[in-house]
Amino acid sequence: MVAVSRPMSKESSSKNYDFLTLDDVKTSGKRIFLRVDINVPIDPSTDEILDDTRIRAISDTLKELEDARVILGSHQSRPGKDDFTSLEPHAQRIARYCSQDVSFVDDVMGPLARQRILRVKPGEILVLDNLRFCSEENLDDKPEKLVKTHLVKRFAKLFDLNVNDAFATAHRSQPSLVGLPEVLPSVAGRLTERELKAVSMLLVNPARPCVYVLGGSKFEDKIPVMEHILAKGKADKVLLGGVPGKVFLRAMNPDIPLGDSLPPDIEKEMDRARSILKNYGDQIQAPIDLAYAMKGKRIDCSLNSLPNDGAALDVGMRTVEKYAKLIEGAATVVANGPLGVFERDGFDLGTRTVLESIAKNNGYTVIGGGHLIGLASMEGMETKFKHVSTAGGAMLSLLAGQRLPGVDALVRAAARMRAEGLQITKHTSQGNQ
Ligand code: ADP
Ligand code: MG
Repeated sequence: MVAVSRPMSKESSSKNYDFLTLDDVKTSGKRIFLRVDINVPIDPSTDEILDDTRIRAISDTLKELEDARVILGSHQSRPGKDDFTSLEPHAQRIARYCSQDVSFVDDVMGPLARQRILRVKPGEILVLDNLRFCSEENLDDKPEKLVKTHLVKRFAKLFDLNVNDAFATAHRSQPSLVGLPEVLPSVAGRLTERELKAVSMLLVNPARPCVYVLGGSKFEDKIPVMEHILAKGKADKVLLGGVPGKVFLRAMNPDIPLGDSLPPDIEKEMDRARSILKNYGDQIQAPIDLAYAMKGKRIDCSLNSLPNDGAALDVGMRTVEKYAKLIEGAATVVANGPLGVFERDGFDLGTRTVLESIAKNNGYTVIGGGHLIGLASMEGMETKFKHVSTAGGAMLSLLAGQRLPGVDALVRAAARMRAEGLQITKHTSQGNQ
């Protein structure tokens, strides 16, 4: 039996999310399913992990579960992608960042996995293989559908407690994230707790001026964030780079020659950009120059001398200087997405310089998005920000004012656990004590 160790910690849950945490349950000796998101950049030809930020980020939770029997599950990429690989290298990497014995099983919920799960001793961690090798885990559906999956039904019988530390996947409604908390006592891990607190603060009362820097390629993920933060008055300035920067330049001036710069399906989003400009134009800062590749070299061009063909691959240096000044004067800075195609030599300049300006700011600085935090970690800059989010999509969903299904599931579980009289009576541990 997992007894609740002390009164429920209201404080640790963010305002809108009343879930339980590791403070609320006894974990010693318990068989725990720990859902994490250690979906990391991998070199598909060697299976080498290129950046382990997300693995390091769960170490606080692993430390607190030192006396538990931990069975860790994560996905890695998705079917059809070349980095849709086994979790074996992840298991090896986890061992570097915790004191427990770590082993791996190349199965998710078959007889081999179930046998190994039952044998895990306190102080051990068993890493299951890529949860998405089990096709059900790829469903994105309502909780009532997800509880009927074999994965949820099988896991429900095996575990005392479910700990969800997969904040970066909290915007998905999948069996291990949303189905499992319907049937097992469930609490948030330390990373989920920390991330929610850090990102939610931005929507409460951010210190002013509050400046957002939005770039990257996925315009459709960034525009709902702009709409929400501007409508709620939570941002003073939005500095744009990457594809969002180019889309807004086009929305400001339909005659601007952006050549091959815009994604083909962007026209349908253009109205949203125009509407933002109409309502909040003076808060939007688009690039004032752009960098192109000409004869293999970076050339910065002002807006009135843009070439007719080729794609803009970075913001220009005058833009960077302007952004640096605005960042310097800000009390809160939030950045998501690189300002240019930083993977190409010379076109990392905008993103790197802006990251450095944010790093110098002593206010509340938050960066997120897989590509941007990958660059920050490569540069050894991670510790220079107040919060580095391991999430891309989940952080953006939260900033866009959307609910996170993975966290809502924890809220429902908490309500059920309270109704059960603060006692978790299900599924006592079996196997080797
Ligand atoms: P993040 O992972 O940081 O949230 P995204 O996934 O939205 O960012 O976008 C990252 C990608 O955006 C990078 O691969 C980068 O090359 C691309 N990108 C950045 N600027 C541009 C640009 N001006 N044109 C095309 N692609 C860009
Ligand atoms: Mg990305």
